Amino acid sequence: MLDVPLELRCNVCGHDRFTLPTVDAADQDVRCGECLAFKCHADDLEQHMLAAASSLTPQPGKGARRSCAS
Ligand SMILES: [Zn+2]
Repeated sequence: MLDVPLELRCNVCGHDRFTLPTVDAADQDVRCGECLAFKCHADDLEQHMLAAASSLTPQPGKGARRSCAS
């Protein structure tokens, strides 16, 4: 599991760090790094982040990180 800060907020505690599953992990859930509340599925994370980014300040150049090895 990777504990990383994201442009998202936990719905439960407002924490902004989340644990991301590794590519080969069986459990592909993104969870709050603080209270471990379920945030979204890893496959949906990019869309969640894009939606959050578009509702906040646009940050050109960010979001190009590749998290999946396809
Ligand atoms: Zn939380």
